[in-house]
Amino acid sequence: MLSGKHGRLVVVSAPSGAGKTTLVHEIIRRHPEIRLSISYTTRPPRKSETNGRDYFFVNENKFHAMLLSDAFLESARVFGHWYGTSWEYVSGFLKQGNTVLLEIDWQGANQVCLRMPEAIGIFILPPNRQELERRLRGRGTDSDGAISRRLRDALTDMLHWKEFDYVLVSDDVGKCADAFEGILDGQGELNRVNSLPTQERVAQILDSDT
Ligand code: 5GP
Repeated sequence: MLSGKHGRLVVVSAPSGAGKTTLVHEIIRRHPEIRLSISYTTRPPRKSETNGRDYFFVNENKFHAMLLSDAFLESARVFGHWYGTSWEYVSGFLKQGNTVLLEIDWQGANQVCLRMPEAIGIFILPPNRQELERRLRGRGTDSDGAISRRLRDALTDMLHWKEFDYVLVSDDVGKCADAFEGILDGQGELNRVNSLPTQERVAQILDSDT
């Protein structure tokens, strides 16, 4: 899909409440040269969000027209809305040699890894289930029912960790960002999905009680 020398594509996924957005902000703060892809979505904007900064907000007709014209590197339906990564947006930065970060769900990450096997897939896990629940409740915007649903979805999403190249645990944002930098520098062996420390840590997290 891309020929010649180009930048790296890094895909970051996580269950909601795992601290992915906080980590990504810290990475961009440390590395302003890294480009964060802005996705297209049919979800209505939240109060704090701006079109073209957080997402490109489009209606279903526009999204489906883009889908049909193969404008997306990946796309998925998440929590009842469509999301997609613009191939043109991402390839422009990659051709300029930039590292590009995609903050997308596991379904989209799987599609990217099939289309661009050289992409680096990183999955973020919360330190334990109790912390995940605390973070989901801490957002303070959802009802108890919505929180229980999000928690259930998050626990199911966590099971996709094996589909990634690396796993990071978001106990401390600074340490997690250090480990992320280590991966980009080719020193992420301990966080590789098939390393013993990662497998033991993930087993502990998945076994922790709610
Ligand atoms: P939110 O609507 O809360 O911003 O995001 C909901 C979920 O959709 C998150 O897991 C987020 O990572 C995911 N998401 C955001 N953009 C994309 C995208 O372009 N593709 C896919 N597959 N998922 C996305």
